[in-house]
Amino acid sequence: TATKKAVKSATKTARTPPKLSSPTKVLYPDDGYTKLDVANYYAAVRDHLLPEIAGRPLSIIRCPAGTDKPCFFQKHHTPGLELVEFVRLKEEAGNNANYLVVNDDAALMELVQFNALEFHPWGSHADDPDRADRIVFDLDPGPDVPFDEVKRAAVDVRKRLIELELESFLRTTGGKGLHVVVPLNPGCDWSLVKPFAQSFAEVMSQAEPDRFLSVSTKRLRNKRIFVDYLRNGRGATAVASYSLRARPRAPVSMPLAWSELSKLKRGDAFTIADVPARLKRRRKDPWAGIEKIKQNLSKFSAE
Ligand code: ATP
Ligand code: MN
Ligand code: MN
Repeated sequence: TATKKAVKSATKTARTPPKLSSPTKVLYPDDGYTKLDVANYYAAVRDHLLPEIAGRPLSIIRCPAGTDKPCFFQKHHTPGLELVEFVRLKEEAGNNANYLVVNDDAALMELVQFNALEFHPWGSHADDPDRADRIVFDLDPGPDVPFDEVKRAAVDVRKRLIELELESFLRTTGGKGLHVVVPLNPGCDWSLVKPFAQSFAEVMSQAEPDRFLSVSTKRLRNKRIFVDYLRNGRGATAVASYSLRARPRAPVSMPLAWSELSKLKRGDAFTIADVPARLKRRRKDPWAGIEKIKQNLSKFSAE
């Protein structure tokens, strides 16, 4: 495939995961979860996580001394990574840089060895970075918004998307909000996706200004939900489904069926402690078939 051409192979050809150093190091001090707990978590969810990140430029959050010490948002490939691949892409400033690409378990585990806790893919693939195949509506509640209101907002986003004949999928973020994800197939240029996402957010905030905001100004947020459309641009990221978060209790970004929303209590309801067992129990992937859906924004383009 074209991915093979764009993505540069790592220096190591034998695809064996590295040995985990400092397995007893505590990375989640509030909860006592160690680096080994994190490695075991990612080994347990890899068949679910890898399809969400494979072939995409990937940013990571590394917490080498634990979540209560400085953590780093890393976009670029760095010396020492031998299993993680990279793709050379143009940056906003005009220069080129090597972006991380994880295609298999060995590369995933190499990043865990480097104390990566969170995985944040682009909404496009490394071999076609200018064409989005995922839109993410990131619902960010202000501090005074009850979670039931965030749930209602997600349902409203879904309804408005259905009116546009677009199917969407729900996930928790492991944080305070929810994500509504729209697959695009074939993909659409960011130059079409970005204004679509922005006007979608603006329509919502204009219709119900007491509930929604389409500008990121924290000061205005309070009792309202920011419909964060800014995840939808070349180089922007959103947390991957099944990624841990570097926050207390080690929450997980969890895909859900829309029918599961009513009983959801909070955005960080799922954690490292329960997700692996839940995945074993689960009869059906709530996002099954997402890759097969044929829909995009071409019907909204100017021509
Ligand atoms: P929550 O539900 O708490 O909002 P979230 O993952 O949606 O969780 P946001 O603060 O809304 O968190 O951030 C949205 C996305 O922006 C993140 O998932 C991440 O991909 C990206 N992001 C976060 N921090 C940075 C950063 N320092 N640089 C670039 N992008 C970032
Ligand atoms: Mn958010
Ligand atoms: Mn956001």
